Amino acid sequence: MSNTACIRCGKERIVGKKWTEYVGSSLVTFVLNVCPDPECQKIVDAQLKKKKENLEEIQRKSIKRRETYRATRKSASRAKKSSKSS
Ligand SMILES: [Zn+2]
Repeated sequence: MSNTACIRCGKERIVGKKWTEYVGSSLVTFVLNVCPDPECQKIVDAQLKKKKENLEEIQRKSIKRRETYRATRKSASRAKKSSKSS
């Protein structure tokens, strides 16, 4: 595994947490790399948390949109006009 640099300050990350966990029937070692600067790591953690929350929000919205789309399709059978090309 190559060393990963901190996304914020660019410092080489250190092993902050190491644990083993069973995934299925095999024991897998997980390594969590953190920034050597705890203050920086705190900010990075907050950013990751925010990112994760954003992602969950997007997923929630997309599920809702899908539900709305399904409901709309049920009432109106005409083809959906889409501006986005695939
Ligand atoms: Zn850092």
